[in-house]
Amino acid sequence: MFDFHMHTRVSFDGRDTAVNMAKAAQNAGLCEICFTDHMDYDPLDPNHKLHFELADYINEYDDLEVPGLTIRRGFEFGMLPDNRDQFLQDVSLRSWDFVIGSLHFVDGLDVYYPRYWEGKTPYQAILRSFEDTLQCVKNHDGFDVLGHLTYLGKCDANPEKKPILYRDYREVADEIMKILVDKGIGMEFNTSGLDRCGDYLPGVEYLRRFKELGGEIVTVGSDAHHADRVGQYCAEGCKIVQDIFGYVCTFDHRKPRFHTLKFL
Ligand SMILES: [Zn+2]
Ligand SMILES: [Zn+2]
Repeated sequence: MFDFHMHTRVSFDGRDTAVNMAKAAQNAGLCEICFTDHMDYDPLDPNHKLHFELADYINEYDDLEVPGLTIRRGFEFGMLPDNRDQFLQDVSLRSWDFVIGSLHFVDGLDVYYPRYWEGKTPYQAILRSFEDTLQCVKNHDGFDVLGHLTYLGKCDANPEKKPILYRDYREVADEIMKILVDKGIGMEFNTSGLDRCGDYLPGVEYLRRFKELGGEIVTVGSDAHHADRVGQYCAEGCKIVQDIFGYVCTFDHRKPRFHTLKFL
């Protein structure tokens, strides 16, 4: 089983060491994981540091080995419509196994917090984030998967903690997924929404549609920020992905690998 999205203390919002996270992965029965710390940028406040330093990353991971566990090294880039140059700079810092492109800020505001949601209905707030995601996937190239497409579902400030349904945002969701397919970029099936808004990020309907549109690459990740969440719901997530696509993807040196898993 795989978990291709997790954060250690290398991330501004992580607390646990890589050793503890990797041991938790081993205990959870995972065979391959990827660390994906934040390279995020606050568009309105350049002094608000949300990205890691390469030296800290190297110290935390480069000598890490756990028997029976394959450990990959990547990062989660915080896309903005106009930070393509920053992305290219971060990608060129070293060789990575896997790069997630995610959206955490819309119109300059962190969507996790109330200010973004003020003055908008939940529908407007979510639609606006899809529109911005569309702009980002148009403007950016070279990441491996789009992270947690329906991230707003689990955000603390979302007054309706409920699944963001494909049918309610079909047009813009299709546009986003078509661009991903055209660019050979995959999607992430993020399990962190299950106990926060009752759905994967994004839900199964998005995956089915992604497949219909020609999408072939899907990874599964817990987005754990603590060791006790490593691998959470990843077995269930991998099974769903395999039922739809026939395999589950991991990445090694930025190349997708396609695995067919045995489920009991
Ligand atoms: Zn994220
Ligand atoms: Zn994350």
